[in-house]
Amino acid sequence: MRKLRSSLFARFVLATSLVVLLIAILLVFELRANVSQTTAIVVALLALLVLLGVITVWTQRTLARDLRELSLALERVLLEGGLDRMPQPRLAELNGIAQEMDAVAARVRNDYLQLTSERDRLQAVLDNISAGVIVVDRKLKIDMINPVALKILGTTREFALGRTFTEIHHSPVIDRAIEKSRRGAVVNKEIQITLPDRRWLRVLASPIRSEKGRTTGVICVIEDITSRRKLERVRRDFVTNVSHELRTPVANMRAVVEALLAGASDEPEACARFMTDLDRESGRLVDIIEDLLVLSRLEAAGGTVEVETLRLEEILKEAVREKEELAGKYQVELIFADTGREISVRGDRGLIKTAFANLLDNAIKYNRPGGRVEVSLERADEFVTVSVSDDGVGIPASDRGRIFERFYRVDKARSRNTGGTGLGLSIVKHAAEYHGGSVRVTSTEGRGSTFSITLPA
Ligand code: ADP
Repeated sequence: MRKLRSSLFARFVLATSLVVLLIAILLVFELRANVSQTTAIVVALLALLVLLGVITVWTQRTLARDLRELSLALERVLLEGGLDRMPQPRLAELNGIAQEMDAVAARVRNDYLQLTSERDRLQAVLDNISAGVIVVDRKLKIDMINPVALKILGTTREFALGRTFTEIHHSPVIDRAIEKSRRGAVVNKEIQITLPDRRWLRVLASPIRSEKGRTTGVICVIEDITSRRKLERVRRDFVTNVSHELRTPVANMRAVVEALLAGASDEPEACARFMTDLDRESGRLVDIIEDLLVLSRLEAAGGTVEVETLRLEEILKEAVREKEELAGKYQVELIFADTGREISVRGDRGLIKTAFANLLDNAIKYNRPGGRVEVSLERADEFVTVSVSDDGVGIPASDRGRIFERFYRVDKARSRNTGGTGLGLSIVKHAAEYHGGSVRVTSTEGRGSTFSITLPA
C-alpha cells in the first residue's frame, strides 16, 4: 500500500484524479454560477500546474534527501567500515537500489572485518617477532614498522609512519638495500650502524610483488647480530690466546728435551737444571689446563648449581691455611680475623674454595715483601661478602675493567714469573655469578687492592 502511495505513478494518478475532480466541480460551479467555460478550464489548468509544481518540488526534495542519506551511509560503510544498514528511502523507487547497496555494503563490511582481523593478526606477529621488520611502499614511505625495528633505529612509530626510510635513519647501506629491492633484487647483508649506537645488523630486503608481478613495496627484515658478532670475536680471541698460552710452555719443554737429547743429559749439573725447567714448564701447562677445565665446567653447567650448605668461615680458614707457605715465601703477612660467627651459603664447595684461593694467590703475589693481606667475612641482609685486601702494587684504573677477562694480565712478566695463568680472576667472576653473586674490585695504584665476592646468604 505504502509502496503504491509513494510511487511516482501513484502520485501522477492521484494528481490527475484531483484535477478531473476539480474540473467536474468547476463544471458544476459553471452551470450554477453561470461562469464561462473558458474561465473554468483556465482555473482548472492553473490548479493542475500548481499541483504538479508542488508534487515535483516535493519529489525532488525527497529524492535528494534519500540520495544524500544513502550516500552518507555508503560512505560510512566504505570509509569507516561502519556496521549500519542502508536507511529506508522515502521514495519507493529507490528501494531496489537501497537493497542492492545494502548487499554491496554487507560484502564490503565483511571484507573490511576480515581485513581488519588479518591486519590485527599481522600486527601481533610483527610486534612479537624478535627481528625488526619495516614495510615500505613503492614511494619508499614506511607503511609498517615493528617495535624491534623502532628500537634498533632509535625512532617512534608516530614519527616513522608515512616517512621515507632516509628521513627516519640515515644508513646508506640500508637505503641502498631498500632501493635495490624496489628494483626487484633480494639483498642480504651484514652491516654496521653507528646511530643510535654502534651495532651490527643483518639486513634482508625483498621486493613485495603484486599478482601481476609489479613491485608494490619492499619488506626489510633487520636482525641485531651485535652480541653474536661479539661472541664470535671472543671465541676467536680465546682460541688464539689458548694456543698462544699453551705454545710457550710446550716450546720451552721441547727446547729442554732437545738440549737433553743433544747431550746435556750427560752433564749432571745441566741435566738437573733442565729437569727443573721441565718441571716448571709442565707445571704451568697443567695449571693452564686445569684452569681451562674449571672455566669450561662453569660454562657448561650454565646455571645449574650442585648445591650444599657451606660454612664460609670454615672454607676461608682452610684456604688461608693452605696459602700460608706461599705468603711466607713472598714475605707477606696473611691475616684472617675469624669472628667465630657462623655464616652459611648454599653452593659448590670446590668452586667457592677455588675462587677464594685465586684471590689469596693474587693478593700475595702482586704484593711486596713486608706487605699484608687481610681477609674478612661479613653478612648484611640477604648477602654475604668475602673481601681480600692487600697493600701491594695495585691495579691501574685503565686495566681494572679488563682484569676479569680470560688471559688478561696487567704485568705479563710478573704474572708468568709467579706462575700465573691469566685465568684466575675469570674463574672468580664465573664462580661468583654461577652462585648468583658478583665480584667487585677497588684499587689504588701503588697502594693496594680489595677484591670482594658477594654471594646470596
Ligand atoms: P694471573 O694468573 O696473571 O694472576 P688473574 O686473572 O688472576 O691472572 O689476574 C689478572 C691480572 O690482574 C693479573 O695478571 C694482575 O696483573 C692483576 N691482578 C690481579 N689481582 C691483583 C692484585 N691483588 N693486585 C694487583 N694486581 C692484580
